[in-house]
Amino acid sequence: MARVLILHTGGTLMMRGGDPSPLAPDVYTSDLLTELPVLRKIGDIESRILFNLDSADMQPHHWVELAAAVHENLPRYDGVVVVHGTDTMAYTASALAFLLPGLDRPVVFTGAQRPLVEVRTDARANLVDACHLATMKIPEVAIAFSSQLLRGCRAVKLDAWAMAAFGSPSCRPLAELGIGVELAPHVLPARAAVPFDPRIEPRVFLLRTFPGLDPSVLFAILAQDVRGLVIEAFGAGNVPRL
Ligand code: ASP
Repeated sequence: MARVLILHTGGTLMMRGGDPSPLAPDVYTSDLLTELPVLRKIGDIESRILFNLDSADMQPHHWVELAAAVHENLPRYDGVVVVHGTDTMAYTASALAFLLPGLDRPVVFTGAQRPLVEVRTDARANLVDACHLATMKIPEVAIAFSSQLLRGCRAVKLDAWAMAAFGSPSCRPLAELGIGVELAPHVLPARAAVPFDPRIEPRVFLLRTFPGLDPSVLFAILAQDVRGLVIEAFGAGNVPRL
């Protein structure tokens, strides 16, 4: 029987009554299986609560803690599912993709636009899809959302209202879930394990260029203790002449 570990970090999926739920590690799995007993058909499901945060409050040290937990536990499971708020899920999934380069099995992020306990919710389908995909041969950090599996470091949250909240404009989905699961040919092959390296440089700034950008703003940023500057340019990489 497949073994899947769910790591909870917060977000809407397990919320009740609009507030963050008072989650306790010992009842999390039983609460989840009571709400969604079909998960038992996928495999042996275990869970752990790492944090219970609105994802807007996730910081790089949370990424490192989560990556370390995945790195430590993954060898004992077929895959790991990370339950995460949608707002910064793509950032955390990207961070994990770089913190865990030696993957030989899946790390699948998911979340929901509406909580699991509600009648109209995307949480049930997303969680079932994520757990199912976590048992497959997909050695990537990915996001399972609204019947698609997206590469984690290429996904973006595009919609705060629609159930199809995520897209991946520059990389086709890793899998499409219809009446079957169609895996794309660009799913990466398994990579050999490497020692965990927790180093992250948080003093990086992202600058999105726009017509009218005042160059003095850019120089003011560079005068700070910034160790890296990522410039989001137009189209194929054009920037305004300074
Ligand atoms: N604000 C929430 C979060 O990102 C929204 C969600 O879970 O979808 O944690």
